[in-house]
Amino acid sequence: GVVSFDLATGKRLHIDLSISSLVGYHDPNGHYVAIAPNITHMVEHQMALQEMANVDALTGLLNRRSGQVALEIELQQAEGSGAPMSVAMGDIDHFKEINDRLGHAVGDDVLRSVAASLRGGMRGTDFAIRWGGEEFLVLFPKTPLEDAVPLTEGIRNLVATTPQVASDPVTISFGVGQWRPGESTAAFVERIDAAMYAAKSGGRNRV
Ligand code: GH3
Ligand code: MG
Ligand code: MG
Repeated sequence: GVVSFDLATGKRLHIDLSISSLVGYHDPNGHYVAIAPNITHMVEHQMALQEMANVDALTGLLNRRSGQVALEIELQQAEGSGAPMSVAMGDIDHFKEINDRLGHAVGDDVLRSVAASLRGGMRGTDFAIRWGGEEFLVLFPKTPLEDAVPLTEGIRNLVATTPQVASDPVTISFGVGQWRPGESTAAFVERIDAAMYAAKSGGRNRV
């Protein structure tokens, strides 16, 4: 098994420990051989690979692939427990214009800023996912719609009031929905997507 040590320095060491008895050897005192190589570099490399596979490099949010897995797991838990589950989908308003007028690098800064607002506005138990280029999902486990809407409204307000380094303030439009028992993941996401487009056509910067 792998044993981890947090040393006084705060540095975590990973040791692979295997213990075997001395087979075929007459040993009345019950002696064992322990081999404990330091595999810290291997474990850290593995953890870095796992992070690269699950986390979006630009924003630090869950990427589409791991976000899809998180969504499926949370919906299965909602189905099993009967607890409510809500999800918000957000899409940055007029993002193409920001890119076209100010450049792709400023667009990337805006994406990082919006991701920070999502993290800042959600609870510790919620998940934020970079679902597409400038599209995000926020998962609200164990949360009915009546609580998810004000939470999403708080995130929308945080985005709209956060000063941007190189652009005017940025806004985001959200659709929110509560999962209906029996509803497929695809149908649920489609329903929230439709709500998000209603927020767009209703004037943007709204839930
Ligand atoms: P709307 O208010 O209707 O959402 O308009 P919009 O301009 O935001 O919508 P649209 O879907 O036309 O534009 C999305 C743009 O997002 C187009 C694409 O170039 C840009 N984009 C996608 N991913 C990235 C990225 O990683 N970085 C940058 N800078 N831009 C990106
Ligand atoms: Mg879009
Ligand atoms: Mg957009």
